[in-house]
Amino acid sequence: MSALGLPPKLRLAPLWPALAAVLIAGTLLWHLLPRPLPAGTVAALALAAAAAAAVVALCLLWLDRRLFRPLARLVAEADALAGGRARRVEESPVEELGVLSRALNRLAETAETQFAAVRSERDHLQSILASMSEGVLVVGPDGRASSANPAFRRLFDLTGEVAGKPVLELSRQPELGRVIAATLRQGGPQSGQIELHVPERRTLLLASAALAGGERGAVVVARDTTELTRVADMRRDFVANVSHELKTPLAAIRGYAETLRDGALREEETALRFTERLLWQCRRLQALLDDLLTLSRLESLADQQVTPREPVDLSALAQRAVETLAAAARERRLRLLVREEPLPRVPGDADGLERLLVNLLDNAIKYNRPGGEVQLRLAPSGGLAVIEVADTGIGIPAEALGRIFERFYRVDKGRARDEGGTGLGLAIVKHLAQAHGGHVEVESRIGRGTTFRVFLPMGGAEPPPAAAAASGQA
Ligand code: ADP
Repeated sequence: MSALGLPPKLRLAPLWPALAAVLIAGTLLWHLLPRPLPAGTVAALALAAAAAAAVVALCLLWLDRRLFRPLARLVAEADALAGGRARRVEESPVEELGVLSRALNRLAETAETQFAAVRSERDHLQSILASMSEGVLVVGPDGRASSANPAFRRLFDLTGEVAGKPVLELSRQPELGRVIAATLRQGGPQSGQIELHVPERRTLLLASAALAGGERGAVVVARDTTELTRVADMRRDFVANVSHELKTPLAAIRGYAETLRDGALREEETALRFTERLLWQCRRLQALLDDLLTLSRLESLADQQVTPREPVDLSALAQRAVETLAAAARERRLRLLVREEPLPRVPGDADGLERLLVNLLDNAIKYNRPGGEVQLRLAPSGGLAVIEVADTGIGIPAEALGRIFERFYRVDKGRARDEGGTGLGLAIVKHLAQAHGGHVEVESRIGRGTTFRVFLPMGGAEPPPAAAAASGQA
């Protein structure tokens, strides 16, 4: 550490009294000397002056070493301490400075403990803020941001420094500005909601409060409620859809029953026709309730991650599903073909996978044209078992392909209802595929036909059953 750290004025302070003393002594000597000056006096005086200057310089050097340099070190350490760097000072051999350096060391010790406590508190607070999924923004009394946690930056897509920026510069959402301004003005808690559309649709709930504890300003917490809102919307839509689906068959049943009561019962032929319709509507209701129960069971299984796992022989399931639907295919003069490549058993739920096959085949028959064809293919592909159901039916418009797996979505509502569909078949297929760790894909051409492909993992596969060649059934 250099003594240059001290102000030059202070370092040169002893020089002036020394010079003054030399000058006064010189002047006195000059006046006291006898006149005329004895020979050699001037030379002696010059020598004495040079000696005095040397003594002064030596004194100054000594003072610099002994006092100013240690003092400069102490000043530098005190300065570092003020800047938040607590360091130990070497103890000075000069007694007065020694006292000062000991005091400084004690101060440094206390400061160090306090700095450590403040640092750990700050780190703790920062790690809490960083791990929060809610966004937190703190603003000063002038409405300028002072800090934002990573979640807030993510939610509002902020990059770069936020400190010192006005809130409107950070986000163009007027609701955020309104909530903050109201909190700063009224000092009480405020809330609001923001709908973001870019990069994707999101709903953010805002809650703000005035800063407590003497600090002025406000803190805003932003919570992403997109998923909650979506689930609430889905639930509402689902209840509305189920009520609607139940209303139609119930109204028909009531109508037939009233007609029968009001006289149709006495005409045997009419009574029989109406009873048949009653039964058909009852079967529709039954199918709807069955599908609803299946969906709810699948959802609760997915929540608990406990889909039953047993080695399932897809080939045997395919044969059973084809047998179940053979009569319906015959009725519509459809060819029902099965083509199989050797497949190991897949881990899964046999009843669920049979239901998946029946739903896909049932649709391929219902939405086909008379004389058309339905082909069920089983084959391995890239470590997955692929179930493919292809038909030569009416096809699905491209804009509907993304929606057909939604509950109650139907392309042609009239035709789907006439066919006795519940609108839940494909939703069940999708859930079943996912519950088995797989997925389903669809491709379709209007008027040419549709192909559904279900991909299922074959993890822990057993040796393939005896290879079965392509077989056909009407
Ligand atoms: P639904 O009980 O109405 O058949 P799904 O969930 O099984 O309900 O199917 C949803 C909709 O997708 C059907 O209403 C139909 O419009 C369309 N769809 C499903 N499978 C096919 C297919 N193979 N060919 C043409 N359209 C289909």
